[in-house]
Amino acid sequence: MNDIAHNLAQVRDKISAAATRCGRASEEITLLAVSKTKPASAIAEAIAAGQRAFGENYVQEGVDKILHFRETENTDLEWHFIGPLQSNKSRLVAEHFDWCHTIDRLKIATRLNEQRPATMPALNVLIQINISDENSKSGIALDELDALAAEVAALPQLTLRGLMAIPAPESSYERQFAVARQMAVAFEALKARYQTVDTLSLGMSDDMDAAIAAGSTMVRIGTAIFGARDYSK
Ligand SMILES: *Cc1c(COP(=O)(O)O)cnc(C)c1O
Repeated sequence: MNDIAHNLAQVRDKISAAATRCGRASEEITLLAVSKTKPASAIAEAIAAGQRAFGENYVQEGVDKILHFRETENTDLEWHFIGPLQSNKSRLVAEHFDWCHTIDRLKIATRLNEQRPATMPALNVLIQINISDENSKSGIALDELDALAAEVAALPQLTLRGLMAIPAPESSYERQFAVARQMAVAFEALKARYQTVDTLSLGMSDDMDAAIAAGSTMVRIGTAIFGARDYSK
């Protein structure tokens, strides 16, 4: 087995173990392989090992990869945009990605809705919540969620699928779990109101177990699959 296939198997095992520990089925949790900065060859290895959902943070880099794999006839892949999104880049996301995890204002949702081609299925979107990181400018406060969710849910070319968060790093499991539970409670309330809501994108390498115990349905893992990133190139 090559490194990436081996790493993927290990990450899948960790997800199953975390799910089992809290009485959930591992099928309830989707593994999003975060491939930012990694070459198409690394993604191809993950695809060969059965991975289908990939997360990208940089618009143009993501689009290049999406087009590459479309040309090589890997048509059953799912591409998730998970980086901060500027208005002037929204068209590329609307025209190429399957999901956007970082909706944090009506303006960006409206643009994505207008720019999503009518020939494509609706863009799946998650509203990003700033759950614990006071220094982060990304995401809305929980008390702003109801209003933004109602506006996003009314946009026909978008499908509101749920919530996403990048909690501030916490060293203890108990703290990680407490923050993740706040997200899970908000997610359950949203799910009760909108039939399309089924996804809580929460949990990275260091807080995956707590996120799964709290109710995450999608974990985003990069380094543990593809190795450390090199930003110098
Ligand atoms: C980079 C990134 C990840 C993956 O981080 P790793 O530490 O490489 O596992 C997950 N979520 C988001 C939003 C990211 O930007």
